[in-house]
Amino acid sequence: MLKENLQEVEGRIADACARSGRKRDEVLLVAVSKTKPVELIREAYEEGIRDFGENHPQEIREKYPSFPPDTRWHMIGHLQTNKIKYIIERACMVHSVDSIHLAGALSQAALGKGLVMPVLAEVNMAKEDSKYGVMPEDAEDFIRQIAALEGIRVEGLMTIAPYTDQAEDNRIYFREMKKLFVDIKGKNIDNVNMCHLSMGMTGDFEVAIEEGATMVRVGTGIFGARS
Ligand SMILES: *Cc1c(COP(=O)(O)O)cnc(C)c1O
Repeated sequence: MLKENLQEVEGRIADACARSGRKRDEVLLVAVSKTKPVELIREAYEEGIRDFGENHPQEIREKYPSFPPDTRWHMIGHLQTNKIKYIIERACMVHSVDSIHLAGALSQAALGKGLVMPVLAEVNMAKEDSKYGVMPEDAEDFIRQIAALEGIRVEGLMTIAPYTDQAEDNRIYFREMKKLFVDIKGKNIDNVNMCHLSMGMTGDFEVAIEEGATMVRVGTGIFGARS
C-alpha cells in the first residue's frame, strides 16, 4: 500500500519534472508523516525516504529516537517559541518562520546549542486570513531583518497554497512565489542563501514543481488520509 503510494507519487514527480524540463534531483520529496505511527513511517524509510515533515514539535520529539541518524525531520507547521526546545536539536530545518519574534527565539536556542538552524520564510501568498506567514510584499524586509541573526540561516521561502481540488487554481500563487524567490535571491542579502522553494502538497505538487518548487511536502498521497 505505502510502497504503491510512493511509487505513484514518484511517478507524478518524475512526469512533472519531465514536463517542465527539470531534473528529478532538483526536487526533494518531504514525506509529511504528521499523525502517522512510527511503524508506517519506518516503511517509508525502508523504501528510501529520509526526509519527513511534521507540524507538531512534540511529534518530532517523540518519533525522533525511533529512526536512524540519517533521518531528517522538517518542521513545517506553525511553531510557538515555547516549543522550540523540542525541535532545536532534532529538526534539520524550520520551513515555517513567520515572525521576527520566532526567528529571534530560534536564533537564541540555536546559539545555546552551538548550532545553526536552516530556516525558510513562510509567505502567505494568497493572503488568506486562516494562514500564517508574512505578506508577499513584506517578505524581503522580513528576510533582511532576520538575516542578521546568528544561529539561523535563511535558505529560502515556503508557502501553503489555498485548499482546492483544482490544482490549476494554485498555479498563480506558485508562479508568484517563484518570482518573489528569484527577486529576493537577486538582492544578494548578506547571510541569506536562497536555495529552497518549499511549495506543493498532495493536491497540487505537480503544478508546484512545474512552477519551480525545490521541495514538495506530500502527506496524504503517501501515507493515506489522516483521521
Ligand atoms: C499536512 C501538511 C502538508 C501535507 O498535506 P497533504 O495534503 O496531506 O499532502 C504539507 N504542508 C504542511 C505545512 C502541512 O501541514
